[in-house]
Amino acid sequence: MIRSVCGYCGVGCGLEYDEKTLIGDITYPTNEGKVCSKGVSELISIQTPTRLLRPHIRENINDSLIVATWEESVSLIANKIKSTSKDKIGFYLSGQLLTEDYYIANKLGKGFIGTNNVDTNSRTCMASAVVAYKKSLGADFVPLRMDDIIHANLLILAGANTAEAHVVFHNQIKKAKKQGLKVVVIDPRFTDTAKIADIYLPIKPGSDIDLFNLVSKRLIDEDLYNKEYVKNNINNFELLKNKFKRVAVTKMLKRTGLTIEQFEDFWALYKESENIITAWTMGLNQSVQGVDKNLALINTHLLTGKIFKRGNGPLSLTGQPNAMGGREVGGLSTMLAVHLGFDEESIKKVSAFWNTDKIDNKSGLPATKMLDANLDVLIICHTDPVYHLPNRKETEELLKKIPFVVEINAYENSETAPYSHIRLPAAPWGEKEGTQTNLDRTITKQEKLTRISIDCKPDWEIFQLIAQKLGYKKHFNYANPQEIFEEFQAMSKLNSYMNIHEASYENLSKEPFIWGKNIDTFLTPDKKGNLFFVENKLLSEKTNLEYPFILLTGRTRDQWHTGTKTNLPTTLLKFKELNFCEINSFDAEELNIKDGDTIIVKSRRGSLETKALITDTIKQKMIFIPISNREVNYLTNNLLDKESFEPDYNHSAIKIEKLN
Ligand code: SF4
Repeated sequence: MIRSVCGYCGVGCGLEYDEKTLIGDITYPTNEGKVCSKGVSELISIQTPTRLLRPHIRENINDSLIVATWEESVSLIANKIKSTSKDKIGFYLSGQLLTEDYYIANKLGKGFIGTNNVDTNSRTCMASAVVAYKKSLGADFVPLRMDDIIHANLLILAGANTAEAHVVFHNQIKKAKKQGLKVVVIDPRFTDTAKIADIYLPIKPGSDIDLFNLVSKRLIDEDLYNKEYVKNNINNFELLKNKFKRVAVTKMLKRTGLTIEQFEDFWALYKESENIITAWTMGLNQSVQGVDKNLALINTHLLTGKIFKRGNGPLSLTGQPNAMGGREVGGLSTMLAVHLGFDEESIKKVSAFWNTDKIDNKSGLPATKMLDANLDVLIICHTDPVYHLPNRKETEELLKKIPFVVEINAYENSETAPYSHIRLPAAPWGEKEGTQTNLDRTITKQEKLTRISIDCKPDWEIFQLIAQKLGYKKHFNYANPQEIFEEFQAMSKLNSYMNIHEASYENLSKEPFIWGKNIDTFLTPDKKGNLFFVENKLLSEKTNLEYPFILLTGRTRDQWHTGTKTNLPTTLLKFKELNFCEINSFDAEELNIKDGDTIIVKSRRGSLETKALITDTIKQKMIFIPISNREVNYLTNNLLDKESFEPDYNHSAIKIEKLN
């Protein structure tokens, strides 16, 4: 029997494998044997006929790809990198990578090629939470764990559909409810998660800041904030208090779309709850004001002191399995490595550790700006930007202009494939080993369950081959992921709060390691949390008479991203349908649309054809299309949060036409 971990979502469930079957690991603390439809069928993703199995090359994207050797492919990539100015090179990584893969790519890009244009698709899901945690708490640090819900009296889920996106955690919420946990769900859609809510708050899209500001204001006005705690531990209280004196409460409440009664019911429950957790995910992060939404939410915990104690705190629910591990090694272009930035002291430390003098001192390009930066070489690894970036038509045009695009992927059917010049076959989950960190800082080892497909390689090895061809053999000469993990562990000592060096790679097979377990205070220089006054600036795309609907996007239970692993031919798997658009019955009637009708959904940027699903779980003048619909980003706008550079996936103006 081999113990491993699921590679689908940030919950990170433990799995057990014995020859042919995969089941939940009953001894694993996060899931205690439970798994969802994705986790239990992960083996099928290795055997799919859509695997990319050989390196391929072409000079021009209009040519056919031809099979090449690894030697030819790696030489070509190394020569292109050598002849390109470092600022014109980009690495576009993914939360699907293992920590060791991320570490090598980051070390190569930032440490030896000398470009900080090393970023990840986590930019499109977690970047707003990262920025807000750093501003408020002093570090990209999740200050509680999933099992804290057992000790909480109230769980507020804001813009998080755990029933579909974090299934096993959702089951734990249901279990905690039996022990008295109250749940408030804040979401414009009445999702499956809302069905278990004690109070459901159907706020208008984009009004989260108003709602959390209303809570903070009431805490201050009614003298219910924790005075002692704020006095000793929190900065900017007077400033926030003064700013709140001038906010228009009625206007804020109106913007949320809630009635006074709905808010007062929530407020009554909030006031009487001793231990409160507020959890959120893409509903808040994926916004043109994603950072501010996060800050408004975190403010409530700083004012009440409901943080750094059991059963309390702001819990960011990470989407991808290793988005957090990637951030730990430095997978974002806005950080260098091990949570260190580009200040002189950090560069000095990291340069000495890697034995290099090539590190640049300015932030690199975020993934959401990489395609629009006239790059000459773009290396995309385990992700599909043509599918997942907003405003797809523009994405396609921009990618076409990049003269040399390398795609490292385990699957051949990505939407990015038509735009790549070199395709390298990577080993997927199950064919490689390494570590990943789940959403609450638990580091676990993914194990190799089967032999690697003949011409595929783990990502770290692919980046190492490129590094060696570039002449850095001395610095990139790892025999296995364990050596890389141990180097990363040594590096983690450069950052005083990162105790990852205390883990043991070998032990991780038996027992996960939770880092930062003893951190019980803010990681800011003065050890105090920072309040920020933020306002809803209504920056999202506006609806009008021509485009009267707001498009909401989100996950569906069985599907994962583009579906390269989950949306397989029905002979392999039968997963939830993706081709639908939820529309309210009143709107449908007005447009003479019947359930199942083919409709054209249009934005100012593009359109897609889909089937109408008439439901009153969605309010009037809103529609919902799953993010795993491969064409949905023809519709979305490319407004970005000004600090996190995360896209506004949940607020595009739309019109609907019935196909005759
Ligand atoms: Fe995998 Fe997430 Fe499902 Fe757990 S909840 S089995 S980690 S997809």
